[in-house]
Amino acid sequence: MRGLPCTTPERKARSTLPTRVVIAEDEAIIRLDLKETLEEEGYDVVGETGRGDEAVDLVKEHQPDIAILDIKMPGLDGLSAAREIAGERRAAVLILTAFSQRDLIEQARDAGALAYLVKPFQRSELIPAVEVALGVFKEMKALHEQAASLEEQLETRKIVDRAKGQIMDAHGLSEHEAFGFIQKRAMQERQTMKAVAERVIAGQLAPEPKPSA
Ligand SMILES: [Mg+2]
Repeated sequence: MRGLPCTTPERKARSTLPTRVVIAEDEAIIRLDLKETLEEEGYDVVGETGRGDEAVDLVKEHQPDIAILDIKMPGLDGLSAAREIAGERRAAVLILTAFSQRDLIEQARDAGALAYLVKPFQRSELIPAVEVALGVFKEMKALHEQAASLEEQLETRKIVDRAKGQIMDAHGLSEHEAFGFIQKRAMQERQTMKAVAERVIAGQLAPEPKPSA
């Protein structure tokens, strides 16, 4: 999925409440494996189902931090479920897709998925993907205050991601620091993050160089 951060954001401090997860996957073995892996890693699986329509209901009922959705499921496909969940900004969405359906990844992004995993995936790939989705969701919430529609937010995110990448490359900042720079300047100058990001891309704005040691 283009435009998504390629680095793993800092893990949530474990002193806070555990991250709450809803899982929707119609293959029982994969669902069980997901649940066990997540619980071993300290996540709280608050709901699980093999149906897409039930996934939407579980998210409304339990208000998790993240929903992990398979694409092909009875009841409602994962892309439609993602659209409902992401459209109302109820939770971060991570999409699971079979290798044969990887052409659906673009559609998944348009549906509001913030990360994806291609099955069969390694245990070691799951947690970074979950954390990426959670990190982007947090940024999306911040962007939402400035952009009304999901479409506008996705557009803003693309531009902010580009600016972040530029700052990271040119100034050796982490992704988190680069986002922080854009967010802070937007607040200071009472501009949207999109406007600040556009100035960064145009070369009109850059962070102060880091003092050399
Ligand atoms: Mg399936």
